[in-house]
Amino acid sequence: MVAGSCSSLPGLCPSCFRCRHGTEQSVTAPRAPAPRPWPSRTVKTGVRGAAGAPEPRRLLLGAPVDSDSDTEGGAAGGEAEMDFLRHFFSQTLGLGTQKERLLDELTLEGVTRYMQSERCRRVICLVGAGISTSAGIPDFRSPSTGLYANLEKYRLPYPEAIFEIGYFKKHPEPFFALAKELYPGQFKPTVCHYFIRLLKEKGLLLRCYTQNIDTLERVAGLEPEDLVEAHGTFYTSHCTSALCRQEYTLSWMKEKIFSEVTPKCEKCHSVVKPDIVFFGENLPARFFSCMQSDFLKVDLLLIMGTSLQVQPFASLIGKAPLSTPRLLINKEKTGQTDPFLGMMMGLGGGMDFDSKKAYRDVAWLGDCDQGCLALADLLGWKKELEDLVRKEHASIDAQQAGSGSPNPNPSTSPRKSPPPDKEEARTSEGEKPQ
Ligand SMILES: [Zn+2]
Repeated sequence: MVAGSCSSLPGLCPSCFRCRHGTEQSVTAPRAPAPRPWPSRTVKTGVRGAAGAPEPRRLLLGAPVDSDSDTEGGAAGGEAEMDFLRHFFSQTLGLGTQKERLLDELTLEGVTRYMQSERCRRVICLVGAGISTSAGIPDFRSPSTGLYANLEKYRLPYPEAIFEIGYFKKHPEPFFALAKELYPGQFKPTVCHYFIRLLKEKGLLLRCYTQNIDTLERVAGLEPEDLVEAHGTFYTSHCTSALCRQEYTLSWMKEKIFSEVTPKCEKCHSVVKPDIVFFGENLPARFFSCMQSDFLKVDLLLIMGTSLQVQPFASLIGKAPLSTPRLLINKEKTGQTDPFLGMMMGLGGGMDFDSKKAYRDVAWLGDCDQGCLALADLLGWKKELEDLVRKEHASIDAQQAGSGSPNPNPSTSPRKSPPPDKEEARTSEGEKPQ
């Protein structure tokens, strides 16, 4: 539908520093650069073990000292601004930033030693459908999954129409039929999800940027502030009327979906839609605001289960400083763009695993869960990870057995509370939902 309409020159869009929004999925960026939230310098420091005690961090031998490293306690706005501009120009024009080699070898072992060093304090995870496939969730945006075959009775003009906002407003039924089949909460988080949770518990997770809308990151115990749900989430829903925008909860939406009633706003009777990003809709403003500050201070990018095909998410790999190591755990190598094309199109540097100039990118090829287990093993976290998965899955099983609900998330299970249609709608003026 409506493709991106950023009018800035390539690489200079004030909201995203590029203007290729919407080239692949017709997503558009928020128009508005509100007063820019200059990056906060408040950072997490130190790694904590399972018992909460600080773990000793090894200094990586030969690791150069970063004279420009973040300082704790916050920097003056001016300094942060300068930092931001320095980074921006270095990324856009290739100026001023050295390619410092921080990995002693381009292997999982090399990444492990870096993660155990003082230099690596802030990890950003970039994840996609591949981290949820072992939970049984198909990549349901892909027409090749077979899911679309079940929708023949709705006579979609073409499969992707089901996720187009213009089509949805006129014909919401096919989307809700698919949503019933794929309802988030019928699945358990994977080893990979719990590995990210472990990164958080160790004090290493700066943010998890996910393309998934299955809410499994939340089920695995990540908090909203740990997450950027780049393509939205089922967790909340809103009335599609621009004048109303009433918010509804997951359990309210679930009740409608499972009773096969098209969810209608209780204030204005417009259709209510989960807050997932449809083709033709803006990405959440949080994606852009977090991106601007997070990528200034990231020490490691951990890219898992994504083919890096969808913009603008895929461009995130080029937002990190040139020295920042990037580990890809995926079925195949991805993200390798021609460096010249990448620069011209504002995509930043593509991944380089194999050339003579390779210095920071590592690919571990295979299943995401196996990759996380291998990394956890090298880090000495394997047993902790396996115990966490076992404990959490048992807890989900017990909740499902106890409630008869397929929804493993206690905070979203409608069976835990009075009937959702009586209690759950968040009404700003204290109105009683019907
Ligand atoms: Zn409404």
